[in-house]
Amino acid sequence: METADRTAPATVIVAIDGPSGTGKSSTSKAVAAKLGLNYLDTGAQYRAITWWMINNEVDITDPAAIAAVADKPEIVSGTDPSSPTITVDGTDVSGPIRTKEVTSRVSAVSAVPEVRARITALQRAIAAAAVQGIVVEGRDIGTTVLPDADLKIFLTASAEARAARRSGELKGKEATDLAATREALIKRDAADSGRKTSPLAKAGDAVEVDTTELTLDQVIECVVTLVEERRGAAEGREKAAK
Ligand code: C5P
Repeated sequence: METADRTAPATVIVAIDGPSGTGKSSTSKAVAAKLGLNYLDTGAQYRAITWWMINNEVDITDPAAIAAVADKPEIVSGTDPSSPTITVDGTDVSGPIRTKEVTSRVSAVSAVPEVRARITALQRAIAAAAVQGIVVEGRDIGTTVLPDADLKIFLTASAEARAARRSGELKGKEATDLAATREALIKRDAADSGRKTSPLAKAGDAVEVDTTELTLDQVIECVVTLVEERRGAAEGREKAAK
């Protein structure tokens, strides 16, 4: 067994799940940066594989066609919270994965079990390699990908607040139509929650944080405090076991 350095904090794995527009990405990145942890945006991985499917003219309406090529693209995620990266077969896709087209198709691709198996294995390998620990954000991290995470957070917010935040992130014409953003967001959440394989769901042992009335700084502060509590408890357990 490895001997832990006495001065090094215990590795901590944090799972942050929730629907779109709850502040998952901003919160996860900031918490990871503050605590010196890695950061993984699992939504970006599903977007990346979706981008590849579109680019390779795979029929997105045909789950069997998607499943047949699910292991083809090589997806690599950089996990520095100050500059997370994502490439597909060596191409930087951080911009193209945020287009309306990818956003509208990602739920169909992410619902395919072969896609989920592939991406889940990737996520587990990345988490296992994180020396200090990692903040992983997504939809099924606490329930499926990392069920033994030290801390599980489930972020929620009203549909109005989520649509307003998402709309603020979009540029130009897309940003002006709040009602359309709200509708698209509700549709995507319904698809993500309703799929058979590892749907968007709150783990039984997750701490739910409703961010509707909170500022981003308040949410970050809340999660940082929870991580520090868990890390303190884990260190106590490590010391007691020595
Ligand atoms: O978080 P983001 O909005 O970028 O996620 C894009 C999509 O990726 C989600 O709508 C969902 O279909 C899929 N996803 C998933 N499981 C995750 C993370 C994202 O199915 N853990």
